[in-house]
Amino acid sequence: MADSDLASLSSRLAVLATMHQKETVIAPLFAQHLGITVTVPAGFDSDRFGTFTRDIDRMGNQLEAARAKAKAVLEMTGEQVAIASEGAFFPDPMLPWMACGRELVLLIDQGLEIEIVGEAVSPETNFSHKTVDSVDAALQFAETAKFPSHGLVVMPSQNCTDSGPIHHGLICKGIVVQDELIEIVTAMLAHSPTQTVHLETDMRAMHNPTRMGAIAQATQDLITKIQQRCPQCGCPGFSETERQPGLPCSLCGLPTQLTKAAIHRCQQCGYVKTVPFPDGVQTADPGQCWNCNP
Ligand SMILES: [Zn+2]
Ligand SMILES: [Zn+2]
Repeated sequence: MADSDLASLSSRLAVLATMHQKETVIAPLFAQHLGITVTVPAGFDSDRFGTFTRDIDRMGNQLEAARAKAKAVLEMTGEQVAIASEGAFFPDPMLPWMACGRELVLLIDQGLEIEIVGEAVSPETNFSHKTVDSVDAALQFAETAKFPSHGLVVMPSQNCTDSGPIHHGLICKGIVVQDELIEIVTAMLAHSPTQTVHLETDMRAMHNPTRMGAIAQATQDLITKIQQRCPQCGCPGFSETERQPGLPCSLCGLPTQLTKAAIHRCQQCGYVKTVPFPDGVQTADPGQCWNCNP
């Protein structure tokens, strides 16, 4: 790798805000493509920024939560460059009965005063939950949730509301052994006034290889963006910041809501580049036109 291929960030060292072993996928990619060493500071508690089991609420939206973690790790270590990642799971916009995952991996360079965000959206997730009334039903759910290669969380169903568990101490996380799952479910069923327990997939990266794969994809996207330099000042992270609607209708020529151009803007010098037709089409289908298809 030529020296000019190396990212011109403020430091060759980046600190990663995680306690869920995300360095196992992020560090090798940064070393290979950017020549940057990624380290995890001892004692960083990323759970205080929110948990998937909702026992601690997330701070702000997905991007704000990642940014808060990156800033906290910069403050804690006094380093210049930090990385943080945040995942979110929701119904697929096109197929609402399917789950979909979005991973963000964010880099803050305090020296350059820039923030670059990599993203991966994928329907490939085991994200699911179920309330069951028997050990057999629990094992059935476990199989569909890719257990035991993927971990599970069990909690008493009477203590679980949509906004999260009521008694935090009763959540059993990180279950990856079948005997342990059977034992916990049996015990909780026996103590449950409704004879039910609530199961969910453990979405923490170290217990979820599918999610680790998505984090690797988002990291790859981040690296591609870091490597894109501003044509004017050379600052890394020259990438799309907004989209302009107005793609003309192929029938009547009037502007539609579809994208006509992508705008790339440098965070350092403000240089702007307009990329026409970023989706590879120069006209919109008349079905997307308010004039032809009101
Ligand atoms: Zn620039
Ligand atoms: Zn039209």
